[in-house]
Amino acid sequence: MGHLTHRDITIIGAGVAGLTVAAALAQRGAHVRVLERADALREVGAGLQISPNAGRVLEALGLSAPLDAVSVRSEGVVLHDSHGRQVAAMPLARRRPDAAFRLIHRARLIELLERAARDAGAEITLDSPVTDLPDAPLLIGADGLHSRVRAALNGPQTPFFTGQTAWRALIPDGAADPFARVFMGPGRHLVSYPLGAGLRNIVGVMERPDWTAEGWSHEDDPDHLRAAFGRFGGPVPGWLAQLQRVGVWGLFRHPIAARWQDGRRVILGDAVHPTLPFMAQGAVMAIEDAWVLTECLDRIADQAAALARYQAARAPRVARVVAAANANARNYHLSGPQRLIGHAGLRAISRLAPGVLLGKFDWIYDYDPLAERIS
Ligand SMILES: Cc1cc2nc3c(=O)[nH]c(=O)nc-3n(C[C@H](O)[C@H](O)[C@H](O)COP(=O)(O)OP(=O)(O)OC[C@H]3O[C@@H](n4cnc5c(N)ncnc54)[C@H](O)[C@@H]3O)c2cc1C
Repeated sequence: MGHLTHRDITIIGAGVAGLTVAAALAQRGAHVRVLERADALREVGAGLQISPNAGRVLEALGLSAPLDAVSVRSEGVVLHDSHGRQVAAMPLARRRPDAAFRLIHRARLIELLERAARDAGAEITLDSPVTDLPDAPLLIGADGLHSRVRAALNGPQTPFFTGQTAWRALIPDGAADPFARVFMGPGRHLVSYPLGAGLRNIVGVMERPDWTAEGWSHEDDPDHLRAAFGRFGGPVPGWLAQLQRVGVWGLFRHPIAARWQDGRRVILGDAVHPTLPFMAQGAVMAIEDAWVLTECLDRIADQAAALARYQAARAPRVARVVAAANANARNYHLSGPQRLIGHAGLRAISRLAPGVLLGKFDWIYDYDPLAERIS
């Protein structure tokens, strides 16, 4: 340990990945500079589910109490059909009482991470779009979906449209329902959970052949989201009636980058492995990456060896998580007889052998990045 002290490190991007790695590196004594193109760290995005595998990292960065102050503790996930009837319940938190599943507004998480990074001495410069990659002893690309650092390492790559469009919205809601709820209909699903501070997060995903641009901040007419889920029952109509501002974007698949580093430049988060949102693990994997990258740089003196070790430690896990998210896209959108059979099967498993369903993703949530053996 201790190879980070006084190292000069430049990070491009002040999203979840960039700010987490900035905080982690600066806390170990590195001189960290973050360049962010936005002129303010705005209210971009909406809700995030932060499962314990990332929570362990945030807690190790000293953020446990501030996180608890601005997030809601989730008890798990409940699957419903489009009429609102319960198909299966996964009380994930009851299975691991010592671990926190948190629901948080992305902007609140960004604020906490920014403060942690600055408190540890990181210098964050806004309004600094990077066009030519700076020549730095170590350059970290946390620059998201259209990463320049990824392109420099791997050449240009064209993502493909998945045939799915996502809407994201926040509505006012004071209900203290501690579950993320998924409503599954043919070719579409809607996810909702509370964010605290009187807000509820709504994500609707629908298969359709045309696409909207990839990105975070395209506004859409709320009536489009209402129409897409107009036949849904349960609490959904009441939620949709409250929509005011709605963001929309196409969901694209990018392959996981083949080359994560070249000894001087390295990428993490969406820059390496953008994922479909159906396991709610994109930001979570970025946080895991940030910890493991920091550990490798701190424990291994030779920078090239440290970066290679980081890729070796992370690549198998992120590939498995991305594949699980792809599979969920299919499971949520079943139609016709497949849907009846699928939902009946889930209901039966949930009733007769709840542990089977609950345990399916233990490998995701019980992973502890802090226990990763780096040498
Ligand atoms: C519908 C939906 C729901 C989701 N729900 C969840 C969830 O519940 N849980 C979860 O874990 N994840 C979720 N995600 C995924 C998650 O939001 C992303 O995986 C995560 O935000 C990626 O973080 P990042 O820091 O890698 O990239 P970003 O957040 O995209 O940050 C990249 C940063 O780099 C900056 N930047 C880019 N290029 C440059 C440049 N040239 N110069 C300077 N700055 C630059 C950008 O301005 C930005 O600030 C969801 C995603 C979607 C689409």
